[in-house]
Amino acid sequence: MKKIQMVDLQGQYKKIQSEIDQAMNEVVASAAFINGPEVKKFQSDLEEYLEVKHVIPCANGTDALQIAMMGLGLEQGDEVITADFTFAATVEVIALLKLTPVLVDVDPKTFNIDLESVKKAITPKTKAIVPVHLFGQCANMEGILKIAEEHNLYIIEDNAQAIGADYTFADGSTKKAGTIGTLGTTSFFPSKNLGCYGDGGAIFTNDDDLAHVIRGIVNHGMYTRYYHDVVGVNSRLDSLQAAVLRLKLPHLNDYCSSRRMAARYYNNGFRDNPNIITPVTEKCGDICDTCNCHVFHQYTLKITNGKRDALHQHLMDLDIPNAVYYPVPLHKQKAYLDDRYKEEDFKVTNALAETVISLPMHTELDKEQQDLIIKTVMDFV
Ligand SMILES: *Cc1c(COP(=O)(O)O)cnc(C)c1O
Repeated sequence: MKKIQMVDLQGQYKKIQSEIDQAMNEVVASAAFINGPEVKKFQSDLEEYLEVKHVIPCANGTDALQIAMMGLGLEQGDEVITADFTFAATVEVIALLKLTPVLVDVDPKTFNIDLESVKKAITPKTKAIVPVHLFGQCANMEGILKIAEEHNLYIIEDNAQAIGADYTFADGSTKKAGTIGTLGTTSFFPSKNLGCYGDGGAIFTNDDDLAHVIRGIVNHGMYTRYYHDVVGVNSRLDSLQAAVLRLKLPHLNDYCSSRRMAARYYNNGFRDNPNIITPVTEKCGDICDTCNCHVFHQYTLKITNGKRDALHQHLMDLDIPNAVYYPVPLHKQKAYLDDRYKEEDFKVTNALAETVISLPMHTELDKEQQDLIIKTVMDFV
């Protein structure tokens, strides 16, 4: 059996090695490392795939969030509501820009931001909501759009974990994750669903004016060369990364479907164990063959009999990779402590931090590997 890995980037590379090597060699030979033609081409390929008017590439997913907030002109004291259960990058940039992060609880089934908690957190200072499409499934965007409209708020979708996912509205229409709010952001970190071979990120929007503002911000606030109209940053996707991403993008739907099939196989394997709660897809119930309602950036179980930590150790001892995303809710992190937070408002994130465990999930998992993982978990829990 192949060695089980949390993410198998080498296996994925080998399948497209000759194309990738050739594309990277061409960039090196051209020496157009920054803003080369590959960047423009990838940008327009991604616009087409996402059916969004503007993709603005940048250096990483954290920058993408920061630049999105800068582009909206948010100012010190403005409150930005986001999920307590996410990677720290989301709240980090809010704090870094001297905005006020307002963390709220999440939904126990989907792990995504809870609408009732969002509503309760709104004050006259609230300017934006940042839903995170955690683990590969969209937050309840229909509900968030409604709240944002009522209170005149911006929406920045943190889509670092769900690129390629579809969101289905009540009327049956669909949109790609990250293209629903005012702005969307993503990360091309190697282990993300569309990963490059280093760091990368992008911002999405259908708003022409915002896109223009943001194109200046990523480039030192320049709209005309050497004229700096606003304070900007230096945040670029380099040509080598763009070349890799451009070759991987046509495979993204297949990558999503491999992940979904692996998730379905896991779900079947863990069926009927009263101590294990498997991931749910809100739209399709059982994980379906056809749509990308969940693209399983992570496959995350809830272990309900108190044995999560023991399971983590047991799997580690047997060399089966696994991880706890996330062991500490953000409102309990030293950097983001705030007297306003009350523990009773974070019942779900506090419980998730104690019960979740993520298993190996990537495009190269095979059934033999999954059978071993499933048996090991089932025997132990
Ligand atoms: C990975 C990730 C980011 C940050 O992306 P980087 O490219 O690593 O800066 C932001 N938000 C979420 C939810 C992520 O998973």
